[in-house]
Amino acid sequence: PGTVEVAQLVAWLETFGRLVHEERDHLTALDAAIGDADHGLNLDRGMRAVVERLHADRPATVDALFKTVGMTLVSTVGGASGPLYGTFFLRFGTAAGPVDELDAAGLATALRAGVGGVVARGKAEPGDKTMVDALEPAVTAYERAVGSGPEHAAAAASEAAEAGRDATIPMVARKGRASYLAERSAGHLDPGATSSALLLRALADALAG
Ligand code: ADP
Ligand code: MG
Ligand code: MG
Repeated sequence: PGTVEVAQLVAWLETFGRLVHEERDHLTALDAAIGDADHGLNLDRGMRAVVERLHADRPATVDALFKTVGMTLVSTVGGASGPLYGTFFLRFGTAAGPVDELDAAGLATALRAGVGGVVARGKAEPGDKTMVDALEPAVTAYERAVGSGPEHAAAAASEAAEAGRDATIPMVARKGRASYLAERSAGHLDPGATSSALLLRALADALAG
């Protein structure tokens, strides 16, 4: 109960893949409004490749697992979100190290490192209308709830990610393709923040068993 095993982390990735597949057309429609109408297609292609690869050969340690995930996303997803999600998972794995389980604090460290990687790579700040607006408050909520265990902390993170996603609606985009629209990007949900909320929903669901 207090620890998260590799099998649960694989369940997280499988659940994220399923949610992205279910929401593929919605994510793509969001991107049609303020981008180039490919976000759901990009991420669905990438997560399908990830899940296929994990079914063929599941790494035994957390760092190896997320190295596979990150490299697969970088190589299969075109566009901004592939390298950004890829970096999230690569940094997550490096921070976790060659272990076969994480405790609540270890998961906090890995999640924080993942978000740090997205920020380092994409240079977005909170308020720029990107996936950072869902990821950053989610990890902060996880850290605040870490003492209540990974399951509760992940549930808090998921709620914070969804609030962060919704807060992107009035924002004016300052990074990525949506920034080309300037003020006209306001009034729309950010597609990447929406998929990032699915990532935290998947974690909460996987840890809830
Ligand atoms: P592309 O814009 O190249 O077609 P996607 O449509 O797959 O890529 O992803 C778009 C999403 O990527 C945006 O909704 C936004 O959340 C995210 N994004 C774009 N640029 C950045 C950035 N510099 N930092 C963080 N997130 C970004
Ligand atoms: Mg796009
Ligand atoms: Mg594109």
